[in-house]
Amino acid sequence: MDSERAEGERYFRRILELIDKHHKLFKHVIPLIASENIPSPAVREALACDFGNRYAEGWPGERLYAGCKYVDEVETIALELAKKVYEAEFADVRPISGVMANLVAYTLFTEPGDLMIALPIPYGGHISHGKQKWGGTAGVVRGLKVDRYEFDEENYEIDIDATRRRIEKKGLKPRLFMLGASVFLFPHPVKEVAELAAEFDAKVVYDAAHVAGLIAGKVFQDPLREGADMMTLSTHKTLAGPQHGMVLSWNKYAEDIKRIVFPGLHSNHHLHAVAGVAIALAEALAFYREYARKIVENAKALAQALYERGIRVLYEHRGFTESHTIIADVSEYMNGLEAEKLLERANIILNRNLIPKDYKLKTDYRAPSGIRMGVQEVTRLGMNKSEMIEIAELIKKVLIDKKSPEEVAKEVVELRKDFQHVKYAFTSGIEAYEHILIR
Ligand SMILES: *Cc1c(COP(=O)(O)O)cnc(C)c1O
Repeated sequence: MDSERAEGERYFRRILELIDKHHKLFKHVIPLIASENIPSPAVREALACDFGNRYAEGWPGERLYAGCKYVDEVETIALELAKKVYEAEFADVRPISGVMANLVAYTLFTEPGDLMIALPIPYGGHISHGKQKWGGTAGVVRGLKVDRYEFDEENYEIDIDATRRRIEKKGLKPRLFMLGASVFLFPHPVKEVAELAAEFDAKVVYDAAHVAGLIAGKVFQDPLREGADMMTLSTHKTLAGPQHGMVLSWNKYAEDIKRIVFPGLHSNHHLHAVAGVAIALAEALAFYREYARKIVENAKALAQALYERGIRVLYEHRGFTESHTIIADVSEYMNGLEAEKLLERANIILNRNLIPKDYKLKTDYRAPSGIRMGVQEVTRLGMNKSEMIEIAELIKKVLIDKKSPEEVAKEVVELRKDFQHVKYAFTSGIEAYEHILIR
């Protein structure tokens, strides 16, 4: 019917207009969400290719679908690159996200009702490591019980001795020790946790969602060498690929992992994203030693500049961070939600976050005491120390000087003008946030 055609077309135009507005917005903001990044134009091209309309269940060369000749070759390259970049015996690039990669780990190493040790969210933990009470994936989907590491809030690190005492005192029998975090400032004690796990014949999984690009660039830590049985990751945070996941492990687990990924947890595995992951890994091989080093340098520079301007960035005594992420306590001015909203009006995009002191305060996660910032995206746009200082000044104007966010937004647009291309990638011809039209 004509009216339905017209109605459909109105929706259609509105959707495309909104996508276009989003692209224009991101050209003009300072993107500081620690879990995001801007992929290269080549990765974005992969995401638009026909792979994304196909099926390829199974392993390359053993598919249950026809037409997979080139898909198979690309996935084989992705596997080869993943094993090279992470020096892993075995890789599976089919998990479609970090959470799904964690589910692969839970399925392999635990049975429902088993106990896992993980970090609570105020100490950096991720909801996929969480217990049922909080709606966490480990509890809700795999039926795991979850206890926590003892955590040294002063130094932002897992306290191994206190954790051992806690386990003994409570008579716990852990099957799995989860490491990795969403606020991941310093390397985790993988070796010490692996020694503790060995006492219980338990496994160690390292969730590298946030730091996958840093590990690829050899600047953070090397979990597989330090004793992890498996490393899981998201490919779109510091790794700057498309939104997808991956597991890396040892040959002794290979066949079990393959069966769990398919048919256990996936049917189609987003083949266009696999192509994008392959491209991101090739870029990692070529460029990420430099990119990762620059990220950490910029994170420290931003932290220092904010700190000097009176913003309470945490862990100054440890150099603030060894990763892309920093956290600040803003509770002397406002809560994290208010800070996030004000800064968003100033075109500075970051998120509110629970910080360690919120654990004992039992602060509502919707209005936490802190904010979290990651510099991986601004670094990929080519920013350096001098821009970190400018960003710190802009944040101070909003949070401390109480300047009008809309006025500060104009300065942000000005700062962003010269940073419109993706660096540390093979192609940078088109603008980073260009809305590519193929309709
Ligand atoms: C982001 C994140 C995940 C989830 O990754 P998705 O790819 O969004 O599913 C898992 N674990 C940690 C620690 C994370 O930070």
